Amino acid sequence: MTQAVIVIDMVKDFVTGKLKTERGAGLVPKVKRLLDAARRSGRPVIYVNDAHLPVDGEVSIWGEHAMIGSEGAEVIDELKPQEKDYVLGKRTYSAFYETGLDPLLREINADTVVLAGLHTNICARHTAADAFFRGYKIVVPEDGVEAFTEKDHREGLEYLKKIYGAKLTKTEKLVKQWLKD
Ligand code: ZN
Repeated sequence: MTQAVIVIDMVKDFVTGKLKTERGAGLVPKVKRLLDAARRSGRPVIYVNDAHLPVDGEVSIWGEHAMIGSEGAEVIDELKPQEKDYVLGKRTYSAFYETGLDPLLREINADTVVLAGLHTNICARHTAADAFFRGYKIVVPEDGVEAFTEKDHREGLEYLKKIYGAKLTKTEKLVKQWLKD
């Protein structure tokens, strides 16, 4: 079983910019720990970042955020992609929707996606849906994703588990397992 870590929207506009929350900022050390362990254990890390155009449907809902080429669309400094990581852009909630993620996962023989980042009930949820439709197994560290509110986060996790069979776990548990392999 090859697990790939999908890092969703850990970009400046969601962590320090227009749509920032304390919850998003609080997530950074956990995601960092997860990514460090993934790299050390040879697991692929794939960033899928919002990179919007003004015509994108989401922009009419959330306002302009993470616009392509803007500073707000850059991954936060603490989680800068490293040499062997992959970086893809997306224009809607799902990390799969017309991003090239599916062929990439096949090329690197990944059959499981580990989801980290923002937000549990929005982009993680839509990414999980597309992963499920394509036959990938889904693992979600509960403390490796976050939402705008605790309620959104809890309900989001429950939905991932119930509807897509996502295996819920904890960052530290995954890290221990990966570094032991
Ligand atoms: Zn967006």
